[in-house]
Amino acid sequence: MYKTDGVVLRTRNLGEADKIVTVYTKTKGKVVAVARGARRIRNRLLSSTQMFTHGRYLFFDGKTLDTLCQGEIVLSFQPLRDDLDKMAYAMYLCELVDVFVEEGEPSPEIFVLLINSLKMVNEGQVLLALRRFELRLMKCLGYHPEMHHCISCGTEPEAIIYFSKEGGIVCSHCKPQFSTTHIVSRGTWELTKRLLDWEWSRISILHPSAFSLVEIEHCMRDYIDYRLDRPLRSLGFLQTLKQF
Ligand SMILES: [Zn+2]
Repeated sequence: MYKTDGVVLRTRNLGEADKIVTVYTKTKGKVVAVARGARRIRNRLLSSTQMFTHGRYLFFDGKTLDTLCQGEIVLSFQPLRDDLDKMAYAMYLCELVDVFVEEGEPSPEIFVLLINSLKMVNEGQVLLALRRFELRLMKCLGYHPEMHHCISCGTEPEAIIYFSKEGGIVCSHCKPQFSTTHIVSRGTWELTKRLLDWEWSRISILHPSAFSLVEIEHCMRDYIDYRLDRPLRSLGFLQTLKQF
């Protein structure tokens, strides 16, 4: 039996009234567990096992699957489920954690990153939250993009800076060695370094341009997809919402 804080990343129905929940926990990393009766109206687990909920959970170890037997809500993140746009963004954050993190590999840093990013999305600072999350998650997972020196020759960037999904920035001499690169403006380059290195308290005072956020979005889309073996489902949902 173990008790730990966690965030519900994903849920799916099981049988008549049960749920299988994927929870990213502070001390055990990703846990997949059965929540018995969690779909019944009067069940105590009904609200604490909803998507995005930050709760304090009690699990029982099982042979194949653990059982989530108690949950106490710390932050319900209800607005993330009430607003379709926020829901899509929150699903994207949760799916990234789900696909990149194996079960039983705890990282307190990723846990805090996830909670703080959900809070920022909840408060409406969506695009900054997403870009920060993507960069920091890559850093936490050991895929830190190199932003100081060209990943091929090691020189410091000159007038024009390029970014490659293969690991970070590239100078104009080395650019032809890489299949696809994105041009990164100076402002974007500076912002990326801050998002990678700065603490949360300083991030909230940033007022980045929409242009820089779009440049980072393109770079990180390629960078992340290059490290995945299948497309993210939440991106399809986000795409559909954008079309409406
Ligand atoms: Zn170079």
